[in-house]
Amino acid sequence: MTQTTDAIIIGAGVIGTAIALELNRLGMGTVSVDKNPASGYGPTSSSCAIIRVHYSTLDGTAFAFEGYHYWRDWAEYLGAEDERGMAEFRETGCLVMCTAQNDFMRRHSAHCDELKIPYERWDAKKIIERLPIYDLTSYWPPRRMDDPTFGEPGTGRVESGIFFPTAGYVTDPQLSTHNLQVAAEAAGGRFVFGRTVIEILQSNGRIGGVRLDDGSEIHAPVVVNVAGPFSADVNALAGALDDMTIGTRALKQEVAHVPAPEGFDFYEMGMVVSDSDIGCYVRPEKGNFILIGSEDPECDPREWVDPESYDRNFSDQWTHQAYRYAQRVPSLRIPSRMRGVVDLYDVTDDWIPIYDKSAVPGFYMAIGSSGNQFKNAPIAGRMMARLIEYCEAGNAHDTEPLQFELPYIKRQIDVSFYSRKRQINKDSSFSVLG
Ligand SMILES: Cc1cc2nc3c(=O)[nH]c(=O)nc-3n(C[C@H](O)[C@H](O)[C@H](O)COP(=O)(O)OP(=O)(O)OC[C@H]3O[C@@H](n4cnc5c(N)ncnc54)[C@H](O)[C@@H]3O)c2cc1C
Repeated sequence: MTQTTDAIIIGAGVIGTAIALELNRLGMGTVSVDKNPASGYGPTSSSCAIIRVHYSTLDGTAFAFEGYHYWRDWAEYLGAEDERGMAEFRETGCLVMCTAQNDFMRRHSAHCDELKIPYERWDAKKIIERLPIYDLTSYWPPRRMDDPTFGEPGTGRVESGIFFPTAGYVTDPQLSTHNLQVAAEAAGGRFVFGRTVIEILQSNGRIGGVRLDDGSEIHAPVVVNVAGPFSADVNALAGALDDMTIGTRALKQEVAHVPAPEGFDFYEMGMVVSDSDIGCYVRPEKGNFILIGSEDPECDPREWVDPESYDRNFSDQWTHQAYRYAQRVPSLRIPSRMRGVVDLYDVTDDWIPIYDKSAVPGFYMAIGSSGNQFKNAPIAGRMMARLIEYCEAGNAHDTEPLQFELPYIKRQIDVSFYSRKRQINKDSSFSVLG
């Protein structure tokens, strides 16, 4: 059976479903295709779903601050009720340790000053008041446990941090994606699950639709690649790789889940903490657990993988992360049974995503989310929908880039910041921090 629509979206993760919602709001019908059995079952389901506002670049910071508001006003933004319930944003705030590695947050605080993002400076006393389980001895540089100097203090202590109140995390990233799907369906979007796009159809030099693994076709003049770690494969299917200066690759990631130290309610009292001194970030989790992720310090080897056939088991990376955090929290209990997630980031060469058209008329991409774009999904969806509308109206985005106003913070961004043809952005942290 052949379906026809205005736009096909490959991938129903959190960004893919947000694009579906926003295209329908602009009056373009969509069919989303995902090989998984439901929305948000890919890397989105493993996301720590941290909503934070500090990024290395001014544009990245503005985008994230804009993004925060959609989670704050989630029900209002969606305008549709999901009978499974609505995702919850726990606004715990985020503490970032000031270290020599992040230049004591000078650049980040300058961005926040310019954008009027609230933050507080905490000294060591205030940090310990809020997190009495913490020991602020410095352990820089982060090491792995097989390093004979692992656990030996470096010089000095962490003396201060910056606390961002407009931050936290979404408790159920998969449910938030389902919420977006329900809103997209209410606006006219359709979803096909359990089917893989195996071919991208083209005729007369532009996109014509897709062929699925059951042989069926869906016809549309627009196809959007939101395939996460499979993004490079989907770009190859479309023949869209040739003019790109920025590539994407799948990177394996592990997140450790450990119980909080006995006697301290980290779920109620804790917050998101980014700690470059030990190369870890953490956030609270239900059941008084703590999620521990890596901030990609130099000691952690990067494991680039084939997304189709990588090993989904924990490795010793889990243990390295947990023990690094135990340097900061000496009373941490590390269970012998590993819990947590193993999944993939879709990483660009500079860890900044690509939100762009392509060299193939009608083919677009929202890819390379580099472990840091869950928070931006709603605004990325809105910006992609406007970009598609702009290009399909005949505008040449590559030479006259779309200028897009971020509706909440009323700031204009030049969308070529996210171009597939940009030079590597040297201001990036080249890590999950973006
Ligand atoms: C461990 C981990 C922790 C993270 N933590 C955070 C965080 O704290 N904060 C933050 O902002 N971001 C975080 N991220 C990043 C964030 O989760 C991702 O940026 C976001 O979920 C990507 O969403 P997406 O819509 O691009 O799709 P994805 O979730 O990547 O899904 C892509 C979908 O495409 C489908 N697909 C692929 N190829 C095909 C095909 N050929 N045919 C049909 N379907 C196809 C897949 O089945 C999949 O469902 C984290 C990511 C990971 C892995």
